[in-house]
Amino acid sequence: MRCSYCATDIPKGTGTMYVHRTGTLNYFCSNRCYRNSILLHKKINKKLLESRK
Ligand SMILES: [Zn+2]
Repeated sequence: MRCSYCATDIPKGTGTMYVHRTGTLNYFCSNRCYRNSILLHKKINKKLLESRK
C-alpha cells in the first residue's frame, strides 16, 4: 500500500491508518504525512463551507 499523502510505499505492519467519516480508508507512512493530510482536509472543508455562504 502507498501513503495517501506522499505516495511512498509503506511496508506491511507500519504506518498509520485513518478512516474518514465517509468510510474512505487512508494510509500514511508517518505521523507527519497523517497530520499534513488531515490539516489539508480541514482547510478544504472550511473553504467549501465558506463558499456556500
Ligand atoms: Zn507519506
